[in-house]
Amino acid sequence: MINSTIQKAYSVLETGIGIDEQTANELINLKGTDILDLMSLANKVTKKYSEDMHSCSIVNAKSGVCRENCKFCAQSAHYNVDIETYDLMNPETLLEKAREVRAGGVERFGIVTSGTGYKHDGEDFKLILQAIDLIKEKVEGMNVCAALGILDDEACKMLAERGIAHYNINLQVTPEKFETLVATTHPIERKIETIKSLQKYGISVCCGGILGLGESLEDRVKLAFALKELNVTVIPLNVLVAVKGTPLENQEPVTAAEVAKTFAVFRLVNPTKIIKFAAGRETVMKDFQGLLMVSGANGMLTGGYLTTRGREMEDDHNFMAQLEEF
Ligand code: SF4
Repeated sequence: MINSTIQKAYSVLETGIGIDEQTANELINLKGTDILDLMSLANKVTKKYSEDMHSCSIVNAKSGVCRENCKFCAQSAHYNVDIETYDLMNPETLLEKAREVRAGGVERFGIVTSGTGYKHDGEDFKLILQAIDLIKEKVEGMNVCAALGILDDEACKMLAERGIAHYNINLQVTPEKFETLVATTHPIERKIETIKSLQKYGISVCCGGILGLGESLEDRVKLAFALKELNVTVIPLNVLVAVKGTPLENQEPVTAAEVAKTFAVFRLVNPTKIIKFAAGRETVMKDFQGLLMVSGANGMLTGGYLTTRGREMEDDHNFMAQLEEF
C-alpha cells in the first residue's frame, strides 16, 4: 500500500506542477520502504519532465588562499588545510584542459576559481574572458561554463556576450541559514544579486547546495523552494566531503537514505530542472551512488572535483548509459 502523501504527490506526474511546501516536508520525513516508493515516483517525474542525463566537467583554474570563511571549504585561507594552491591558470593552460575533457567525450567545461568573485575591469577577469574566447574558438562542440563567485553587473553582461552555457553559483543552504551554517564574511544577498544580474542578461544559472552542513530536513525543503523561486536552470547537489582542517572535519555524515529523500523531494518541487549529483557521489555515497542516481537526479559532475579526484570519466560514461534504462 503506497503512503497517502506519496499518492497525493503522483499529481506531479500528471500535471508537471511541483508539490507544495507542506507535502515536501511530509515526504522528506518518510522512513523505511516508503523511501523506495518516493524514489520511484521521483524517477518517473525525471523521465517525463526533465532532460536526458546531463554531464559536465570542471577545472579548478585558481586554487586556495580565499579570504572568505565558508566552513566546508578546503580553499579558505581561514583554515589550515593541506591543498595545492596556485594563481589563475593562463588562457593557454585552460585551453589544454578543455581539450583533454572534450577528448573524454564531455561537452560542458566549467572554469572554476577560488575567491570572492570579480569586477569586470580586473586583470584576472579579462584573462578568464580570453580563455573563454579561446576555448570556444578552438575546441569544437565544447560549451563553456563558469563559476567565478560574486560578480558586478557589467561582468555578468560581458559573460553573456561570450555566450557561456551556465554560470554556477551555489546558495549552499537555505538563505536564512547561510550566515550560521556557511560563512560570515559575505552575505547571501550578494550571491542572489549576482544570480539576478546573470538572468537579466539571459545567462542560465546553475545553483544548488551541499547536504550535511548541519541543516535540518526542513532547511533542505526551504532550499528547494528558494531555488524554485530563483528559477535556476540546473541544481547541483553535493554531499559534504568533510575536509580535515575545516570547521566541519568531524561533521556527522548524511546517510544514503537522507540523500535519496532529498533528491526525490528536490525533483518533485522542481520537476523540469536538471538536478545534478556533484561532490560526494563516489567518495561519500560509495556503494549507493547508482541507487541515488535513480531518485530524481539526471546529471552528474564527472572527472573530479575542486580539491578531490573523482573516478575515471570513461567509467562515468558507461554508468550513465546504463542509467538511461531505468
Ligand atoms: S567556497 Fe568559494 S568563497 Fe567560500 S571559501 Fe571556498 S573558495 Fe572562498
